[in-house]
Amino acid sequence: MAESKPKPKIKKEAVPIPKQKPEERRRNFNEVALGYTEEQALEEANRCLQCPKPQCISGCPVEIEIPAFIKLLREGKYEEAIAKIKEKNSLPAICGRVCPQEEQCQMKCVVGKVGEPVSIGRLERFLADWERKRGFKIPEIAKPTGKRVAVIGAGPAGLTVAADLAKLGHKVVIFEALHLPGGVLVYGIPEFRLPKSIVQAEVDYIQRLGVELKLGFLVGRTYTIPELLKERGFDAVFIGTGAGLPAFMNVPGEDLGGIYSANEFLIRVNLMKSYAFPCYDTPIRIGKHVVVIGGGNVAMDSARSALRLGAEEVCIVYRRSREELPARKEEIENAEEEGIICKFLAAPLRFIGDEKGWVKQMECICMELGPPDDSGRRRPVPVKGSEFVMDTDTVIVAIGRTPNPIIQRTTEGLQVTKWGTIVADENGKTSLEGVYAGGDIVTGEATVISAMGAGKKAARAIHEYLMKK
Ligand code: FAD
Ligand code: SF4
Ligand code: SF4
Repeated sequence: MAESKPKPKIKKEAVPIPKQKPEERRRNFNEVALGYTEEQALEEANRCLQCPKPQCISGCPVEIEIPAFIKLLREGKYEEAIAKIKEKNSLPAICGRVCPQEEQCQMKCVVGKVGEPVSIGRLERFLADWERKRGFKIPEIAKPTGKRVAVIGAGPAGLTVAADLAKLGHKVVIFEALHLPGGVLVYGIPEFRLPKSIVQAEVDYIQRLGVELKLGFLVGRTYTIPELLKERGFDAVFIGTGAGLPAFMNVPGEDLGGIYSANEFLIRVNLMKSYAFPCYDTPIRIGKHVVVIGGGNVAMDSARSALRLGAEEVCIVYRRSREELPARKEEIENAEEEGIICKFLAAPLRFIGDEKGWVKQMECICMELGPPDDSGRRRPVPVKGSEFVMDTDTVIVAIGRTPNPIIQRTTEGLQVTKWGTIVADENGKTSLEGVYAGGDIVTGEATVISAMGAGKKAARAIHEYLMKK
């Protein structure tokens, strides 16, 4: 009988990523995770089995050839490894940091069946950081096609469409309402999770592909979409305007002083840099007892920012249980290590103010989990007679975001859903000829990589449309 080959021994535990210590990082805005060293990256890359039929690829919305880049990394061919990633993903340093890998590529990794999956995101980050320190290599760009595309919004969806179309030889102009590009990557996700210099570096790379960026330009006011197409000479438009309008609970007292929407709070902290006050002229009032309502990434980011701004105690109030928390697992662990308290199965009923109109207390009710709702998660149901009162002087509401309606209102014939999202097919085609859309504006709030995946598909469809036109 032929001797069977010995199976390679794989370490069950992933190589941990070095981090700032919790007691230090809870008072600064420097990046928490410090990234793998070369030695650590090689050790982790060696845990990959180089599967002949790799499942991990199907978990990545932009279909990075994961085993191929890991093989190149293992061979020390870092330049080739990052080039392999960039065939599919123009923002690897960002995705390596904020992708919910545990639910995407890493969830499908076979090593995950016997231990911790291969840390694909951390390896991607290692390579992207390696390249950034040495200077980006610009890929080959196709000959100019003479076609012009307007991209509305410089978030992950818009940046991806722009990069892909520029590489195909089209002239792309991004119109962005804010004074900085990046969308949620700059105004939402805090510096300690995603340094803004890294977003800027990846945007610089996209500009070097030939993409033009017009900042402080609100489409729907300065120009409308019909004007861009008919008067400004664009052949196609991509809408990637995200879901930037905060949702509220509509409970009594929500308009008291000291209650912020997470959007307003995070924009002030990140985009206006209030954490660096007085070097930046944007102070923000933060009390001693901060309550954050919600359980997603936005709630975690708000809570951890409030702690770093000097709050004595920060409590997250979430209406479901720990198992349903939608935030990234790694960030929940980071938040708890830093001292964030979570109060599960509770929801606010009203806010109580002092004589000057500032919030001083919040009345809540306990919840229990009933049968699953439309989202498949168990529905929280109030428990009769379980009301209780919590003291608080600052509340941050992080219960969701909806699309800004300005484009929808100024573009006749553009089909929208009852939630205000734009109707588009799987390639981003909308009800109007030459107009495509993708990212949160189509799906409602989702993830960076799903917005980029939508951008990639739309870029392919726009290219096809332009070449036939
Ligand atoms: P956006 O990122 O919202 O970008 C849209 C851009 O369009 C903005 O720059 C906006 O200013 C611009 N714009 C809007 N209207 C106009 C107009 N009329 N004219 C011109 N410009 C316009 N996802 C993850 O995967 N991992 C995370 O860890 C994570 N954390 C998050 C934390 C926070 C605080 C938030 C708010 C979201 C988080 N997300 C996370 C979700 C993720 O950031 C979004 O799903 C993603 O950014 C959506 O990309 P987008 O390009 O569709 O829109
Ligand atoms: Fe995984 Fe995100 Fe990288 Fe894709 S882009 S391989 S999902 S970390
Ligand atoms: Fe490597 Fe896991 Fe992908 Fe297999 S599934 S190739 S082990 S990363």
